[in-house]
Amino acid sequence: MLAKIRNSLCNFMRGRYGLDTLGNFLLIIGVILAFINLFLGNTVVCLCAWLMLVIAYARMFSKKYEKRNAENVWFLERTTRIREWLNKHLARIRIRRTHHIYTCPGCKQKIKIPKGKGEVTITCPKCRIEFTKKS
Ligand SMILES: [Zn+2]
Repeated sequence: MLAKIRNSLCNFMRGRYGLDTLGNFLLIIGVILAFINLFLGNTVVCLCAWLMLVIAYARMFSKKYEKRNAENVWFLERTTRIREWLNKHLARIRIRRTHHIYTCPGCKQKIKIPKGKGEVTITCPKCRIEFTKKS
């Protein structure tokens, strides 16, 4: 039964474009707008949310691969900087959960130390200065 559903879904998605970065972006913005609208109850916000989601799904099920890919490339080219900035910050937030970031007092080099190891003596890999920190 489950295999049958999976099979028919595979058949349905065959030759269709699927999800790309632009598609993900539209889905996320659509869901965020829909969520915000739970509190606002604004018609324009509601329409925008639906529009984003409808476009995202229409692109996903589209069979015009080249057109959809061109749209995605257009989107990627215009959002390179903001995506890089976002990825950098998200990576930093992820690291902060398990590591401390210390700055070397000698050369300002940033050093990553795992959390929960008690008091540790850190040797800077760049200038070899030693300093003690709690991790
Ligand atoms: Zn240093």
